[in-house]
Amino acid sequence: MKQVVHISAECFPLAKVGGLADVVGALPKYQRAAGWEASVVMPYYHLPKMLEYSWQRIASGEFNLGQYVLQYGVYMLDAEVLGFTVYALDIPGKFDRPGVYADPQGNFYGDGPDRYLSFQHTVLKWLDGWEKLPDVIHCHDHHSGIIPFFMKFGMGFDRFREVPSVFTIHNGRYHGSFGWNMLYAFPFFDWQMRSLLEWDGVVNPLAAGIKCAWKVTTVSPSYLNELKSDSQGLEWLFESESAKSSGILNGIDSEVWNPATDPMIEVPLKKSVRKFKSSNRAALIKEFGLQKSAPVISFIGRFADEKGADLLPEVIHQTLSLGMHVNFIVLGSGNPWLHHALNSQQQHYPNQLGIFIGYNEALAHKIYAGSDFLLMPSRVEPCGLNQMYALRYGTIPVVRRIGGLNDSVTDLGDAEGSGFMFSHASVGDILHAISRAVDFYADAEEVLAVQERIMQIDFSWSRSAQDYISLYENMT
Ligand code: ADP
Repeated sequence: MKQVVHISAECFPLAKVGGLADVVGALPKYQRAAGWEASVVMPYYHLPKMLEYSWQRIASGEFNLGQYVLQYGVYMLDAEVLGFTVYALDIPGKFDRPGVYADPQGNFYGDGPDRYLSFQHTVLKWLDGWEKLPDVIHCHDHHSGIIPFFMKFGMGFDRFREVPSVFTIHNGRYHGSFGWNMLYAFPFFDWQMRSLLEWDGVVNPLAAGIKCAWKVTTVSPSYLNELKSDSQGLEWLFESESAKSSGILNGIDSEVWNPATDPMIEVPLKKSVRKFKSSNRAALIKEFGLQKSAPVISFIGRFADEKGADLLPEVIHQTLSLGMHVNFIVLGSGNPWLHHALNSQQQHYPNQLGIFIGYNEALAHKIYAGSDFLLMPSRVEPCGLNQMYALRYGTIPVVRRIGGLNDSVTDLGDAEGSGFMFSHASVGDILHAISRAVDFYADAEEVLAVQERIMQIDFSWSRSAQDYISLYENMT
């Protein structure tokens, strides 16, 4: 059986910050079902969630890293636990912390480059000890972007020269760049090839991954096109590497996101979509103390510019001060000014605005199940999973026409549409889309017909997992 090893900084449910974790926590399961052995290598963070599992320590080692000796241990989680094997590299001093990229108060750890360089270096040192190397090494985002370079040009890593590598970009905004002063953390490598690591005079792990991997993928086809015209200086690189690049739309884990079996929602789906939506909606309205007859428009996500979350206060203000009969629910965290803005708006509109500042997986499931609409005013959306979860739970997406949203939602103005779409991340465009949604909501039978239809759309991983496997098979 052929084997792929995924290398990632996140993996659901062990360590999740965003969509990267969801993908890496689901794709291997579906690849195994499709006949490839798939496993994940990640850091052994000291996150409470991660330490809950019973890990087995299977290996340890050490090697020289600049002036010091780096010691590592390898923990394993058997395939029965998550549906695929996970190897977590324990690197004391680097990952024995309670957060992934930031501490629990949200302060970013300042030594990201050192942590992820040592992780990548350790991954290859440890894999090099395997009797048979994987058939494909699949790296995800900048945290593992330098691995394809090491595989080609790192000294002592000759066994990897013919192993195909894939580099998947989940979020092209983060390049993970750092200066050459980090050279101490690199293995020796062919110095003549150093320009492959560089972009604009600094080491750029995202650029290095794009240049050195055998194949590059982005998490949706539209996103790949957008990166060619907007990727913080890498536009030309995306253009010039387009022959080996492709976009593969993410799927969703339809076991975790199954309205019929989801233990986190109030009422699971039996036969009637009408009953499923109305009972989960009622529970959500009760939980937040909102108006019963008004449609519920929700937002779930990081309060980051990319998500357009900063537009929410103005959208909420204009909608509610105009007297529109709607409810809003916002779940997320990030930018502190937004926490304050939403908190104070909530005081003004206690029965039309529900907010939860923070990360809450169970609440997210309840919101997908109980809302009428899900708003995504993203400025950038590499794939976006929220809209797919929403569709699966019969919640109509109201989304900007961008990236993966463009590849997974169609406008209800067209035949067989699935949501409301708008062009710009601007308050005016969002308000227009919301008013279309509210008008549409008035026809309960039409709403039900659309809910029934969108819940049938197949976003399961089976299709995309097969696309990745075809990509691997063309290289092996
Ligand atoms: P990104 O990776 O850019 O943050 P995605 O749409 O790819 O965006 O994935 C976001 C994932 O994180 C989804 O599973 C979404 O439900 C979840 N999520 C985001 N914010 C929260 C939150 N505050 N509480 C619970 N889940 C959240």
